[in-house]
Amino acid sequence: MFDTAIAGSLPKPSWLAETEKLWPEWKASGAELDRAKADATLLWLKVQEDAGLDIVGDGEQSRQHFVHGFLARVEGIDFEHKVKRGIRNNRYDAMLPQVVGPLRLAGRVHATEARLARAHTGKRLKFTLPGPMTIVDTVADRFYGEAKEGRIRMAFAFAELLNQEARALEADGVDIIQFDEPAFNVYMADAAEWGVAALERAAEGLQCKTAVHICYGYGIKANVDWKATLGGEWRQYEQVFPALSKSSIDQISLECFHSHVPPDLMKLLDGKDVMVGVIDVASDVIETAEEIAATIGQALRFVPKERFIACTNCGLAPMRREVAEAKLVALSQGAALARQRFA
Ligand code: ZN
Repeated sequence: MFDTAIAGSLPKPSWLAETEKLWPEWKASGAELDRAKADATLLWLKVQEDAGLDIVGDGEQSRQHFVHGFLARVEGIDFEHKVKRGIRNNRYDAMLPQVVGPLRLAGRVHATEARLARAHTGKRLKFTLPGPMTIVDTVADRFYGEAKEGRIRMAFAFAELLNQEARALEADGVDIIQFDEPAFNVYMADAAEWGVAALERAAEGLQCKTAVHICYGYGIKANVDWKATLGGEWRQYEQVFPALSKSSIDQISLECFHSHVPPDLMKLLDGKDVMVGVIDVASDVIETAEEIAATIGQALRFVPKERFIACTNCGLAPMRREVAEAKLVALSQGAALARQRFA
């Protein structure tokens, strides 16, 4: 009861890449970089296991960014001529690669790190991929057209490629495949209208558990400032959860602790496993076991015990490494206290 897991990303060690950055530069190249990525993956597996987490992942150590890591292996994308654009409804600027032609996978994307992680842990292994709608929001397009129909066609084209990689990850022994869709909390009407359908296309045919992570973003300043404009009650989930509840996706990851999400919105996820964020990724303060157990107790008013998973609000990538390590330990201790209290 009360399994623990992280949303996905973890900080990169300073010998692998720049620290505390969303798009960090690697510190090496070629075979040396490949070795460093593998070492960092093993290191974080060990830290997650030592912390006592039930579900572990590769911490996204082999990708520069949670979206662009996948795109690096997609043909039809020009990474040489990136353009500066506002993303997440202009919340912050990013340098975006451009879609310039038909999309096709050049080969496997994450085989190396997935197989490495599988070979080195007996715990349940979760692997993350970006969701189709969030990919569409994190590229510039010169091929599909800016009209809504073009964006939908592009999302389904990406969904097909995600599905290819997801099926291969399943064959590699991954237990849970999670798609990250922060864009669902920005374009709620589109998410309900076609985003969830594109997500289901990405997950089509998978026999392993499938999940979607929807959050208010990493703990970077642009997101913290944006959250301050959202008022006293964040009801974005209310527009998307009904469509997700009807979907084939097994698990939903949401932001909870220190957010203004009304906890009763979790009721809309009837029949799903719910990964509840009990760790704040926008603060370096380490949560106490008491705080985490209290958050879990509050969520249990709306989520059945057997469907509850304790999780982080979002990825920990831009945080300091020692802070992230302490938060993993806190997550595990908080869930242990909740087990004593609510089991
Ligand atoms: Zn997130």
